[in-house]
Amino acid sequence: MPQAKTVEKRVAQILAYLESKYAAGYPVELKWRKILIDPDEPVKCRKEYAAETYLESGKIIILMSRKRNRTYDYAIDTIIHEYAHARDWRHARIEGREDRKIHGPEWALYYGEMYTDIHDEDGWKLSREF
Ligand SMILES: [Zn+2]
Repeated sequence: MPQAKTVEKRVAQILAYLESKYAAGYPVELKWRKILIDPDEPVKCRKEYAAETYLESGKIIILMSRKRNRTYDYAIDTIIHEYAHARDWRHARIEGREDRKIHGPEWALYYGEMYTDIHDEDGWKLSREF
């Protein structure tokens, strides 16, 4: 299968590939929004971000910003980053360490493992089949 022709389709391929190899504790659903901002901040200093991952009704939702994830490289880095959160979530829950750091050592390990898979091993090519 050829590489996906849009950023959104390519991100979906990468995510499906990662899910097939590395388990998260809950089913993962990918959603796109035009823009993501923090509604709790005062309007003038609202931070815009690239993605958000959270647990809702037994599912992990990964929200991606179309505005911030325009290029393939950036969007793929974002989905690897967010899926590392999805994997770390399970880890934290099992061990009852809800106070873990958001980008702590386990998250970094997952991120690094999947980064290597996609960029240095066959993940880039194999993910095109998803
Ligand atoms: Zn993060």
